[in-house]
Amino acid sequence: MKCFYLSIFARCLALIFASVLIVDLSAAESKSVDDFNAAAAKANTILTIPDWQRTPETVDSSIKDAIAKANAKLDQIGKQDLGKVTFKSTVVALDDLSYEAGLTANKVNIIKEASTDAAMRTAAENGIKVFQDWAVGIDYREDVYKAIKAFADTHPKLSGEDEKLLNETMRDYRRAGLALPPEKRKEVEQLRKDLAKLGTDFDSNIVNAKAPVVFTKAELDGLPDDFFAKPGIKTGDDAYTVMANVTWQFITVEENAKSEATRKKLYVIHDSLAKDTNVPVLNQMLVLRNKIALRLGYKSWADYQTETRMAKSAANAGKYINDLTTGIQPKFAAEVSELQKMKAAETKDPAAKIDTWDWRYYQNQLNKQKFTVDKEALRVYFPFQKVLDGMFAIYQNIFGLKFEKITAPYKWIDDLQLYMVSDAASAEPLGMFYLDMFPRDGKFNHFAEFDIIGGKLLPDGKYQRPTVALLCNFPPPTADKPSLLSHQDVETLFHEFGHALHSIVTRAKFGRFAGTNVPRDFVEAPSQMLQNWVWEKKVLDTFAADYRDSSKKIPADVIKKMNDAKLATAGVFYRRQFAFATLDLTLHDPHPENTPYDCVAISNPILEKIFLPIDPSTTFVSYFGHLNGYDAGYYGYAWADAIAADMATVFEKAKEGYLDKQAGLRLRREVYEPGDSRDVTISIEKFLGRKQSVQPFLTRIGIGEAKKKPVPAPPAPEAR
Ligand SMILES: [Zn+2]
Repeated sequence: MKCFYLSIFARCLALIFASVLIVDLSAAESKSVDDFNAAAAKANTILTIPDWQRTPETVDSSIKDAIAKANAKLDQIGKQDLGKVTFKSTVVALDDLSYEAGLTANKVNIIKEASTDAAMRTAAENGIKVFQDWAVGIDYREDVYKAIKAFADTHPKLSGEDEKLLNETMRDYRRAGLALPPEKRKEVEQLRKDLAKLGTDFDSNIVNAKAPVVFTKAELDGLPDDFFAKPGIKTGDDAYTVMANVTWQFITVEENAKSEATRKKLYVIHDSLAKDTNVPVLNQMLVLRNKIALRLGYKSWADYQTETRMAKSAANAGKYINDLTTGIQPKFAAEVSELQKMKAAETKDPAAKIDTWDWRYYQNQLNKQKFTVDKEALRVYFPFQKVLDGMFAIYQNIFGLKFEKITAPYKWIDDLQLYMVSDAASAEPLGMFYLDMFPRDGKFNHFAEFDIIGGKLLPDGKYQRPTVALLCNFPPPTADKPSLLSHQDVETLFHEFGHALHSIVTRAKFGRFAGTNVPRDFVEAPSQMLQNWVWEKKVLDTFAADYRDSSKKIPADVIKKMNDAKLATAGVFYRRQFAFATLDLTLHDPHPENTPYDCVAISNPILEKIFLPIDPSTTFVSYFGHLNGYDAGYYGYAWADAIAADMATVFEKAKEGYLDKQAGLRLRREVYEPGDSRDVTISIEKFLGRKQSVQPFLTRIGIGEAKKKPVPAPPAPEAR
């Protein structure tokens, strides 16, 4: 119930552009959705192009109508005779109404992110707020809970997806406190409200933390010339103001300032942001989380948070991160040692050590000296349309699909594209996707896939096929050049489109299990795996070519250098990630009730132990936004990375590598189609054909051969 199919949890990678431009990508749009209706009917499915609201008033009324309709259905569940409850009249009815209300919310959410009309966006934003407030309250409809519990109490003989639906619905209620006696339930509700308020304070203290630091030009020696010319930097005769809280400014100084004193000064200020405000707030949040977990019968908040994820327990998440931390130690040590040698040479102090304020600088020097890849020059190989067509060709081939451009009856922008996805073998239409690819004022400014209509078996027995949208911000074409993507853009496109396919090909019966509605520590893994595709020459050569002369492909040595550069910093990158994951889990470990927390005393030693020496006055956690929202969840990034590497081995060992159709079809059948209708661990292992292993991940990041583990041979380095 909690996430309600609302694509607020849209999957995204962060990159920002902002500009306005309308581009003509018009190609032949011969077909319409009607041309697929006969095939859909044959498969007993429904295809739906959303009926988009066009005025703020209808946006507003659509949300109100959706809520009223859902409330009426909740009433129906609540007032039924408890002696006659059935699976259909309780849990399925709840999934049905949640799904249906979610359809409206999803559509309004797209309007909020993509409408070209500010009044529409505002109306949609308000609508989403109203919807979310209402959705939270569903958990606390006692009449509905009683009906569902009455059904659960009949101990029905269910299996598979049905059994999972009942169990997880009851689990949600238990997690919300509904299974507690009234007094305790009220207390949990109150604690949650207090926690939500503190969370809001924590976030706004981060947003409001501003720290200007004035340097002289000499102190900033080493920074690129254009840095000094940026607006707001030069603030006096020999005064340059760096905002420690503005990420690009902080990073530019840390990566380039030759003076260690400068790097350290800015780092200390940065890692102490929101110290006075957020240290007490976080300590209090930890107290409340711990209390909630204990009231609900969990040993810790980390156990509570991980219960619904793949990890299932704090111990599993912790062990995983621990194993990876240990596994990566030799690579991390080797990288730090190389940085140390550079620092020793530069400072003429053989005992110089790499501190937290040094690694970015020496890593940058290393990259410049060893791997001279000009990222900007690579763009000529990635004209947008060629990349899109190339990606389509690859995904159609490996997943056994066919994409056809169709007419969109309503377009919020001229260059909006709509495609039908069908099964290549049977011609069964599977769903549709919109592409809204370029930036404009007021549009969502990252890259993400949004569900609009999720897959679901409808009450009338027909299957609703999904419709999704990709909202991206690729560089628009200019007067003399087409849209030319960076390599990172290409990687993002392959990633986001993976989410779209995960949603579209679904076969799950219930809305809450369909498509990308899988545990949060898994959802990114298949898309992270697909990012590998764009680091391989064989794949790149199928579409990447100089737009001025398509006979020119990316030279092999350039691709090798790009891979080498990525690998050369993986130890430092991941150990830092593991330090964050570990401190996040440790903060949410079992803790005696009514004992105060000292979040800094818990977290600072972990940063030093797993990553690099810090300055003891800093309070990294006071500015670590993930601690509200991704609390006890940061481990999920590395968790998904390791699964992604593990899954990639199936392709790497296959005959055609990343272009292998058998492997692609297996991913579609075993991972994408079931979604969360069965435990994702089962899906992963069915796809792998073996138990999971972290060894491929360690191999990928340069830890060498498999260590006497009964895992298949590691991929050859060049197949990475
Ligand atoms: Zn993603």
